[in-house]
Amino acid sequence: MNKIITPVPPLDLTGQYATIESDISTAVLKVLASGQYINGPVVESFATAFGHYIGTEECVVCNSGTDALYLALRSLNIGPGDEVITSPFTFIATAEAISAVGAKPVFIDIERTTLNLNPTLIEAAITERTKAIMPVHIFGKPVDMDAVMAIAQQHSLWVIEDCAQATGAEWRGQKVGSIGHMGCFSFFPTKNLGGCGDGGALTTNHPDIAATARLLREHGSKVRYHHEAIGINSRLDAVQAAILQVKLQHLAQWNAQRMAVAERYRQLLASIPNVLAPSEIKAGTSVWNQYSILLEGFTANRRDRLRSAMQDHSVSTMVYYPIPLHRQPVYQNLGYGENALPVSDQAAAEVLALPMFPELTEQQQEQVIQALRKSLQQV
Ligand SMILES: *Cc1c(COP(=O)(O)O)cnc(C)c1O
Repeated sequence: MNKIITPVPPLDLTGQYATIESDISTAVLKVLASGQYINGPVVESFATAFGHYIGTEECVVCNSGTDALYLALRSLNIGPGDEVITSPFTFIATAEAISAVGAKPVFIDIERTTLNLNPTLIEAAITERTKAIMPVHIFGKPVDMDAVMAIAQQHSLWVIEDCAQATGAEWRGQKVGSIGHMGCFSFFPTKNLGGCGDGGALTTNHPDIAATARLLREHGSKVRYHHEAIGINSRLDAVQAAILQVKLQHLAQWNAQRMAVAERYRQLLASIPNVLAPSEIKAGTSVWNQYSILLEGFTANRRDRLRSAMQDHSVSTMVYYPIPLHRQPVYQNLGYGENALPVSDQAAAEVLALPMFPELTEQQQEQVIQALRKSLQQV
C-alpha cells in the first residue's frame, strides 16, 4: 500500500498571501496609480501605525533591518574606537552594522535556555570604550530587558534592541522595541511582519534621535539639496509600505497562531528524550519567528544527518545558526579562543529549527514529530 505524504516545508509564504491577496492587490494598485513611489502619505501612514503598534512616540521606516541597525548606531554617534556588546548567536547583520559604523562588536555568551545573550555576562565585558548593548530577541523570544536596562543605566550605556525576529513580542506587557533607547525591525519576507521585498524600521521615544535617523536615511538632508551629514539612501518604498499596512492588521492574529503552534510542539515534544524544547518565559511572550530545539549532546555532523533523515521523511528543517559570529572568518581578527563562548558553540551544533509558520496545521505538526522520532532512531 502506497501512502502519499505531502512534504512539510520549513515555512510557507504563499498560503498566507492567498488569504489577503485581494486587499494587497487593491493597496498596491492604488500606489501604482498614485505616481508617488518614494515617501509620501502611504509611507507616513504606515510609519505612524507601526509606531503605535510598538508603542513608541517615533518610528523611522527604512530600507531594511540591517539599515535600521546601522542608522541607530550612527544616530547615537557610535563609531571608530567604540565597542558594542552583543550576542554571537544571531544573524550576521547584527554585528555587521556595528562593524559598518567602524565600532567593534564584543560578543558575550548566551543562555542555553533562551539562546539569548546572558545578561549576567554583560558587566564583565564593559570597558571604557563600551557605548551600547545590543540585545537580540532571537527567534522571537524577548531578552531579559529588566537585567539589560539595569546594567545600561548603571553604566550610562545605550540599548539598541535588535527586534528583527520579534515584531510583537512582549516583555512585562511592553512590546520589544519600546523598552531600550531604540528598537530595530526588519520587514524581510520571512519575519513576523514581512513585506514583499526588503524593509525596516527604527522605533524610539527620543525625538532627537529619530530626527537624526531621518536625516541620515536621506543623504544627511532635511531640506532638499542641503546636506548636513554624510548619510545613506534608505527609504521604504511606498509599495512595501502599502503591503505592510495591510499585513499589520493581521499580525496579532498570526502571532497568536504561531503561539498555538509552539504550544502544540511543546506538548508533542515532551516525551522525546534528548530533545530540549524552547523554554517558556514567565515575564514575556515570544512570537516564535522560529521554533528551534536543541538536540542534547549532538555534534553538528550528527545533527546534519538527522536533518537529512527527516528530509527523507518529507519534513524540511533549518539550522539557525550553524556558525556563531565569533567563529566567522570575518571576525577571526577579534581573537576569540577555543573555549571563549562555549554555550554558543554547543548551541550551534545542537540547534534545529522545526517548521514554523502561522498556518502550520496540527496534522503537519504530527508529521514533523513522527519524522523526528523515526530519524532519531536512524542516526
Ligand atoms: C533579519 C535580521 C536582520 C536584518 O534584517 P534585514 O531586513 O534582512 O536587513 C538583523 N538581525 C536579525 C537578528 C535578523 O534576523
